[in-house]
Amino acid sequence: MARGRLVAGNWKMHGSRASIAALLDALVKESPPSCAVCVPFPYLAQVAERLRGSAIAWGAQNVSEHAQGAYTGEVSAAMLKDFGCRYALAGHSERRQLYGETDAQVAAKFAAARSAGITPILCVGETLQEREAGSTEEVVGRQLGAVKFEGGVLAYEPVWAIGTGRNATPEQVQAVHAFLRKRVGPDTPILYGGSVKPQNAPAIFAMPDVDGGLIGGASLVAKDFVDIMKAAAK
Ligand code: PEP
Repeated sequence: MARGRLVAGNWKMHGSRASIAALLDALVKESPPSCAVCVPFPYLAQVAERLRGSAIAWGAQNVSEHAQGAYTGEVSAAMLKDFGCRYALAGHSERRQLYGETDAQVAAKFAAARSAGITPILCVGETLQEREAGSTEEVVGRQLGAVKFEGGVLAYEPVWAIGTGRNATPEQVQAVHAFLRKRVGPDTPILYGGSVKPQNAPAIFAMPDVDGGLIGGASLVAKDFVDIMKAAAK
């Protein structure tokens, strides 16, 4: 995909029909450019319907690596596409850590999304222990190298900054993005994720190799998400 700004919200396992309706009403009213929300599976149809005709895209938080078959509880890329899904997260650290997703599985999910015409957002990031051991580049390089990366969006999400309120500094973010940029070239959007809030978004988005953000907690609060998107648009 051509490089441009993108701010994607990851709602994780939060929300109800009523809270999602209110959040989408607020977002549609602002009609922010270059934005997407990644929603829990049961709400795909509701979100697709509400966002039809708006500038806001939507995506899934996960996708099966299999095309179809006896995979109870899984959702295929073709099913997502059937609803008009534009993006799918692949390899979010919560999937890697809590559900044991391997680099090979993440690569297969990335490929499955691509072959269904969905843009995968590949998440890479190191743990605190790995950062302190000086192996950040080795870890994100390995996670990226496992994937036949083409036509996707890349998201750098240091595990120690996700949902912790602990911020990576803009300089720490830029250093890793510059490393990733050399691997994926100038046309791939590279997002940063990890406790992005309206307060720290402007300085992070000002970094030359940061093309936007993947936003967890703050994407559930309409005003915060809109303010973050405004920071990305500057
Ligand atoms: C995420 O879920 O990808 C994320 C970055 O979460 P948070 O913004 O809450 O740290």
